[in-house]
Amino acid sequence: MPELPEVETVRRGLAPVMEGAVIAQADVNRPDLRWPFPENMAGRLTNQKVLGLRRRSKYILVDLEGGESLLIHLGMSGRMLISGHKTGDYHHDHPVPAKHDHVVLHLDSGVRITFNDARRFGAMDLLPTVGQEDHWLMRDLGPEPLGNNFDEAYLVERLKNRNTPIKSALLDQRIVSGLGNIYVCEVLFRAGIHPACKAGQIAAKRVSGLVPIIRAVLEEAIAAGGSSLKDYRQADGELGYFQHGFQVYDREGDPCVNPDCTAQITRIVQSGRSSFFCPQCQR
Ligand SMILES: [Zn+2]
Repeated sequence: MPELPEVETVRRGLAPVMEGAVIAQADVNRPDLRWPFPENMAGRLTNQKVLGLRRRSKYILVDLEGGESLLIHLGMSGRMLISGHKTGDYHHDHPVPAKHDHVVLHLDSGVRITFNDARRFGAMDLLPTVGQEDHWLMRDLGPEPLGNNFDEAYLVERLKNRNTPIKSALLDQRIVSGLGNIYVCEVLFRAGIHPACKAGQIAAKRVSGLVPIIRAVLEEAIAAGGSSLKDYRQADGELGYFQHGFQVYDREGDPCVNPDCTAQITRIVQSGRSSFFCPQCQR
């Protein structure tokens, strides 16, 4: 499932081909994904110039000249594909849409942007650019983990007296938005905090220490995604999925990466989701 770094990588891959281009045609091949598409989505996208691409949490926002923004959520299996020729004639043959190509944007440059989603947990919506923070998917989101409103004092205050495990607290999108299962496992390993620790019982100093670790883990993953972008044009134009060296995630039974530790990575299930951690390094 794409998390914040993967979504940011997709945004950075799409931005140079979409910004400044006009959506000449929009093919909407079904009425819905996870939720119904907005009314007349194809018509509202057609002839719109793309002003810019932003990200909020795990949502990509494509700002259009007419005052609306296209929200893209990749869900579990959503993929954005770039095809066509940037310099070629727009009037060339396009292949028949593949089975899971649900939305295809034909840009006036000749580039096609395809939203392909086999499991259909993804979403697209149109919302007013001004006041977008009131959209139902975004109004309850906490601060961006890489933004200025997320700092030590904020996190200490939000976790104070919380009886929930730290793992669940960091996954709570109202506290900090965009963190998902993979990167929370990695953050807690680096912080040496057991995922089942009650959030409110962790010393303020250790909670403060989580903030730079969260930023570092996300920034390293975004950097890894950036290097994957350099290769995608030679491949199949698919954005957003890259190999990343995780230290604990999905490594159950592997030896801990800390050289002075002899333990193996352990998996427990918390709120229906797997937590991977080192029982010796995380307390
Ligand atoms: Zn260890």
